[in-house]
Amino acid sequence: MTAIRVHEFGGPEVLQPEQIPVPDIKPGTLLVKIQAVGINPVETYLRSGSNPSLPRPYTPGSDAAGSVVAVGQGVGQEWVGRKIYTSGTLSGAYAEFALAGLDQVHELPAGFEMAMGAAVYVPYFTAYRALFQRARTKPGEAVLIHGGSGGVGIAAIQLARWGGLRVVATAGTEAGRALVMKEGADLALDHHAGDIEERLLEFTKGRGVDVILEMLSNVNLGRDLKWLAPRGRVVVIGSRGTVEINPRDAMMREADVLGLFLFNTTPAERGKIARGLLAGFESGKFRPVIGKRFPLSAAAEAHAAIMSPGALGKIVLDLGS
Ligand code: NAP
Repeated sequence: MTAIRVHEFGGPEVLQPEQIPVPDIKPGTLLVKIQAVGINPVETYLRSGSNPSLPRPYTPGSDAAGSVVAVGQGVGQEWVGRKIYTSGTLSGAYAEFALAGLDQVHELPAGFEMAMGAAVYVPYFTAYRALFQRARTKPGEAVLIHGGSGGVGIAAIQLARWGGLRVVATAGTEAGRALVMKEGADLALDHHAGDIEERLLEFTKGRGVDVILEMLSNVNLGRDLKWLAPRGRVVVIGSRGTVEINPRDAMMREADVLGLFLFNTTPAERGKIARGLLAGFESGKFRPVIGKRFPLSAAAEAHAAIMSPGALGKIVLDLGS
């Protein structure tokens, strides 16, 4: 089978297609024929060497969608032929086939094309966890989705609307701001503009926002703390460096800065998220937005694209049927 392999850490060019054997099925696992793969920023960090102890060569990727073609001992035959999406794999998702554990496969929601399935795990599980498990938002609260045009941001806008929140979302381009409005934001702002504070105060009648989901904390956390209402919460989702804050901004508001690391979600929390999402997906309340598609062989271009400005939803590798 063709898989994208990383032999040495480096730039996108280290992602090279290679012929390797289809993984051997082991007890308790399922073999999935992959039809779409979701690209996430974390895969670019790992490829660059953010975790030097990662064994090489490896096949990147956690989010895929496809059909189960075989099952190992202990897994029911009824799985064979099912369309599924993955929340992680055992062998890597950037490939024609992947091995996954039973706890990593979820039935593809009705009406979803494969690319949408590949856009579920990291974006939607992160957005759900941020809004409902970390910030514990309540209907009627005002939320700023700081970085609303990307994979996590679009999911968060849709889920926040579903949760009865008032939503402000940012994007760096005109097209991104049009998209966040289409997906349910009440107000779209430009994260590069100087008027965010003024516009947020206008939107909240001087109170500030109750919750901020922050995609670039190393740039924004210091300002975020000034934009919060009393007892506001910032959820740190993305960060690519350090930042200076004034702790008094948190102190005066009794504000909370909440870290989020998706991979710390417990199996019970993950089950709750999967069930909550399925209800919304199948009732058509929200659906992933696919911004760009690349073939498997263009994984390097997909990595360059996800680190470039101008996000418009999710980037996927589309392997066809
Ligand atoms: P993505 O699809 O690449 O989207 C990135 C988003 O950041 C876009 O909306 C982009 O907007 C926005 N952005 C760019 N400059 C910004 C700025 N100055 N202020 C605010 N936003 C800005 O990535 P993603 O999948 O949504 O992930 C977002 C971040 O969360 C990444 O850093 C990722 O690594 C992290 N993440 C963390 C976890 C976790 O477990 N902690 C889980 C998932 C994701 P424009 O392109 O329109 O400028």
